[in-house]
Amino acid sequence: MPTIALRGAVDIPQLGFGVFQVPPDDTIEVVLRALQAGYRHIDTAAAYGNEAQVGQAIRASGLSREDVFVTTKCFNDDHGYQQARNAFKDSLERLELNHVDLYLIHWPVPAHDRYVETWRAFIELRDEGLVRAIGVSNFQPAHLRRIIEETGETPAVNQVELHPYHQQPGLRREHEEREIVTEAWSPLAQGGVLEDPVLTTLAREHGKTAAQIVLRWHLQLGNVVFPKSVTPQRIEENIDVLDFHLSAREMEQIADLDRGERIGPDPDTFVRP
Ligand code: NAD
Repeated sequence: MPTIALRGAVDIPQLGFGVFQVPPDDTIEVVLRALQAGYRHIDTAAAYGNEAQVGQAIRASGLSREDVFVTTKCFNDDHGYQQARNAFKDSLERLELNHVDLYLIHWPVPAHDRYVETWRAFIELRDEGLVRAIGVSNFQPAHLRRIIEETGETPAVNQVELHPYHQQPGLRREHEEREIVTEAWSPLAQGGVLEDPVLTTLAREHGKTAAQIVLRWHLQLGNVVFPKSVTPQRIEENIDVLDFHLSAREMEQIADLDRGERIGPDPDTFVRP
């Protein structure tokens, strides 16, 4: 599995496994299956309610801690310097780990205007060695600019909704200029792009599935992805994307599918809970 060096230092496997909406009771089994299939990067969050089970699965796998890259996230009601530090401690306790590899601000929640304070707590957690790399999620260019200008610290990644129907070209350019790695959440649009005729045709031509075509497209763009599935065959299918290549013309055909169409909330207004 290719890796990308975050801020030139911490290597993240480019394809991982996401556990949003994986019920806690199923998480140990599903994550174990993913680790057995070869995934070495798990994307969870305090808000997903399954951090404890992710930690249990990693221990049960027999893999060493250094071999599995773990991301978790600080949720919307935990913004603010002290709240974010407390939230991190709670996540670490649930995971039963002594550090996480990547810690993200889950949403900026601009209505509450506390994400800069949260970011200051993140910088400290990284400097204390409790987190190897720090980043953000669902940040718009204005939010990125603000944390960088007010703290001098650029996030290692921005994890945003990104799939063939919502390709975020402007934000991706902003990331490139600032050397921020783009992480694509809902890389398959939760399955919503898989019937697209352009993708099903490419799938047929390559002897792959539409999901594999989309994941390959992400990897060739340089995105980090972590598709979610609880189905054993799909878990294996989604990591089996390293043995073929999309041509420049095929990449363009997929670029042309962009409709700027979100399936998730608008980061400028989302405040839940
Ligand atoms: P996804 O695009 O990974 O789609 C998952 C769904 O697609 C599955 O439930 C299944 O219905 C279908 N699917 C998966 N593999 C398939 C295959 N091979 N063939 C056919 N159908 C298939 O969507 P997601 O779970 O929303 O996103 C992935 C991960 O991104 C999450 O688990 C989570 O870790 C992260 N995420 C982050 C945020 C955020 O705000 N930061 C938001 C949503 C998701």
